[in-house]
Amino acid sequence: MKRKWLLMVLFITGAVYSSAAQQEVDPKLTEVWSPEPAKVTPGKTNTDAPSDAIVLFNGKNLDEWVSTKDTAKPAGWTVGKGMVTVKKGTGNIQTKRSFMDYQLHIEWRIPANITGTNQARGNSGVFLASTGGGDDGYEIQVLDNYENKTYVNGQASSVYKQSIPLVNACKKPGEWQSYDIIWTAPRFNDDGTLKSPAKVTVLHNGIVVQNNYELKGMTVYRGQPFYKKHGAAPIKLQDHGDPSEPISYRNIWIRPL
Ligand code: MG
Repeated sequence: MKRKWLLMVLFITGAVYSSAAQQEVDPKLTEVWSPEPAKVTPGKTNTDAPSDAIVLFNGKNLDEWVSTKDTAKPAGWTVGKGMVTVKKGTGNIQTKRSFMDYQLHIEWRIPANITGTNQARGNSGVFLASTGGGDDGYEIQVLDNYENKTYVNGQASSVYKQSIPLVNACKKPGEWQSYDIIWTAPRFNDDGTLKSPAKVTVLHNGIVVQNNYELKGMTVYRGQPFYKKHGAAPIKLQDHGDPSEPISYRNIWIRPL
């Protein structure tokens, strides 16, 4: 019993001494004053491009884009009324510039008079890094899933056939919707093996739907995703070729990180 009391006294004395020692440490030692983060002027609203963003589509032209079919040719989609609309049959379009890690803002609208079901209802997509022609890359699905059932790992804001969105944040067809995407590109070793996987966070209409998801590889329609070495890559938008009305995009900007 005596021993127990002795241990308790030692413990309390120790606690008092260590707290006193902690109070002697100057808090200034853990303050960091430089270098200061660069000043950025936010947009008027949180959907407007901040001062350090690269504007990829300003509502007027597709100067920042080319056709994926022939990257020497301008993007063939239709620009008007401040938006760009998929021109069916012209194929995907992609940015002239290539990117590694970034924050991307993009708005999209499914036409109010959309028809079709399942995957054939306003299907498009944002490829976070285009790794080749066609649909090669990492696709965040664009689709009308307001009241349209499809496989859940292929619905709007899924990492197509890899990661189901945490919630369904879709608005009605005819309304503008937004994706805010934070992308960490995969890194590869010299021998082509994967060094670190790609990661993505997606907010759909301001709601977190992908939370730092670690990708298993590039999007594939048949079979399992896999990685193939690449570096900085363009961002690509999909002409899915649905029979239904084509969808539109607007207000696209990016901040390389
Ligand atoms: Mg798609």
